Amino acid sequence: MTSADNQDQPTQPAVYPPPQRIANPEGREKPWISSMAEYEALYKESIEQPEKFWSRVANEMLTWDKPFTQVSQGSLKGGDMAWFPDGQLNISYNCVDRWAIKEPNRVAFVYEADEPGNATNVTYGELLSQVCSLANVLHSFGLRKGDTVAIYMPMIPEAAVAMLACARLGLVHNVVFAGFSSASLAERVADAHSRVVITADEGLRGGRPIRTKTIVDEALQSCPEVERVLVFRRTGNESVPFNAPRDVWWHEAVAAQRPYCPPVPMSAEDPLFLLYTSGSTGKPKGVVHTSGGYLLGASLTLKCVFDIHDGDIFCCTADIGWITGHSYVVYGPLALGATSVLFESVPTYPDASRFWKLVEDHKITQFYTAPTAIRALRRHGDGYVTKCDLSSLRVIGSVGEPINPDAWTWYNDIVGNGRCAVVDTYWQTETGSHVITPLPGATHAKPGSATFPFFGVELAILDPTTGVELEGNDVSGVLAIKRPWPSMARSIAGDHKRFLETYLRPYPGYYFAGDGASRDADGYYWIRGRVDDVINVSGHRMSTAEIESALIGHSAVAESAVVGAADELTGQSICAFVTLKDGFEANDTLKAELVKEVRTRIGPIATPKVLILVDELPKTRSGKIIRRILRKVVAGEADQLGDLSTLSDPSILDILIREVSTAF
Ligand code: ATP
Ligand code: MG
Repeated sequence: MTSADNQDQPTQPAVYPPPQRIANPEGREKPWISSMAEYEALYKESIEQPEKFWSRVANEMLTWDKPFTQVSQGSLKGGDMAWFPDGQLNISYNCVDRWAIKEPNRVAFVYEADEPGNATNVTYGELLSQVCSLANVLHSFGLRKGDTVAIYMPMIPEAAVAMLACARLGLVHNVVFAGFSSASLAERVADAHSRVVITADEGLRGGRPIRTKTIVDEALQSCPEVERVLVFRRTGNESVPFNAPRDVWWHEAVAAQRPYCPPVPMSAEDPLFLLYTSGSTGKPKGVVHTSGGYLLGASLTLKCVFDIHDGDIFCCTADIGWITGHSYVVYGPLALGATSVLFESVPTYPDASRFWKLVEDHKITQFYTAPTAIRALRRHGDGYVTKCDLSSLRVIGSVGEPINPDAWTWYNDIVGNGRCAVVDTYWQTETGSHVITPLPGATHAKPGSATFPFFGVELAILDPTTGVELEGNDVSGVLAIKRPWPSMARSIAGDHKRFLETYLRPYPGYYFAGDGASRDADGYYWIRGRVDDVINVSGHRMSTAEIESALIGHSAVAESAVVGAADELTGQSICAFVTLKDGFEANDTLKAELVKEVRTRIGPIATPKVLILVDELPKTRSGKIIRRILRKVVAGEADQLGDLSTLSDPSILDILIREVSTAF
């Protein structure tokens, strides 16, 4: 909503300058971007002289087999964007060989297994021979450049080895999160025409075994194109089904191969992978990313946004089944020659200290997680955090959903101990890397705002109905990007028309992100929630994120989701779902207090008409709230919920339906 919609002006948010620890790093290098003036100068160059900016950065950061002579071509209007189109490089060479040649003992991955205290290192030298052996195995299966390979694996180093082995040969990987059901896996394998699936016997999460291989077998009953299944032995459970000759053991296959395989030079525009989106708003899309521009985006953002220097230990807790795992567990860190912590477990196993023990044990310097985890851990109280030594941390990041200001402040004060920069990074599967984000040594952060655009990203806020660009500050509308950037998606697998229709045609000449946003009086960007989720009360467009943040501001609230319900009088009214923190009791007094909280924080127009206390909110398997399900349930259309393949816990649906029917 615009500030004009506010009846009571909200209080000005606090501003957090770069922390001393980053601004004045005693005994360490200064941050890569160390002032707002430096950011602004580089940003200006990236927009006004993009050729100069991107050719310099692409030559500095990547090693090319054949140098590019052209930086970019194509337009958003045409949907034919290409970056460094005549350049050639190999992604696995850039991520592995470069460092293995120079310093084979440098640690690429610290692998923290599900079992606490069970960590091993993989050096760049070891990674190179593992990637090469596996690439030779894939070659022996008859796979050639352009073929797709499905990867359905737990969070273990071999998952990254599989991705890099594909990249070495120009095979297009299709990683499917290993928490997906057999039906969802089958859909993604078939949609991508993968002939080979790489998997493991079992996974382990929070001490519980996951029947990974059995799920693959179930899925493949409806995937006749699959010829080979390569199985890594993770747990060694003897009862796991194995059907030779289709199934091949990883350890046996690699033992038969030479541990060197020459990298295949690829065009910068050859596809590197396809990846299905999280499915928060509907049926997942198989987003296609190419090689050169993607790797440049992932590595440049990681370096600047997390301020990665030699010797740093970076940890991103995302699963490799999501874009965050692709860009910030595997490709970004390795392209920088950094050390990446690969975490197989869950934040609450064996207890809610697991993340913070991880930071303490490995002296992690930058930590990156999602609001869902931050809110869940905040729900358990501060003691789990404060008992650990987090003094190694410098930058802590958030991604995946808007981070509500109260969760931001908790993250900053309790996890960061007021000494770290908090980076709220806004981006999407389709953007490949961060597009709106603070830079730790430069940006003065406002809790809940992703702040400013990254280099090369030219943002616009459009009027949702007319599509006219809203100039100046203090405006809100839909978020769009005005020009192509290197790591943007190029297509949707097998459906370029859907790519054009989803992203490029709604507002011709712009990339349409699907999110609402505002630019405040100081030029900061605030993501206001999905355009599909916007609530319209008596002609006022309400931001879901803002109302949810007001609720989370109350000390009893753990999480909240608001949706619109049909209302005869106002068109739509606000219906809020709330979960409580440990130790708070659900009752009518509390409900009334929560409604009042929103009313005073935002204004009478935002007052929820119905407020329902629930135990759980519907979430995607990556932990994002799925408002479309709540909206359907509220509308009495629980029989038309649409694609539910990404819903993490379908058992909560019946409970929700019951709770809603008693509330209305
Ligand atoms: P689908 O496109 O299938 O509905 P999805 O949009 O959840 O799923 P992702 O690409 O994983 O799939 O998520 C991108 C979306 O996540 C963004 O469009 C935005 O809505 C939200 N998001 C990510 N980071 C942030 C952030 N820092 N602040 C606010 N929203 C964010
Ligand atoms: Mg999306």
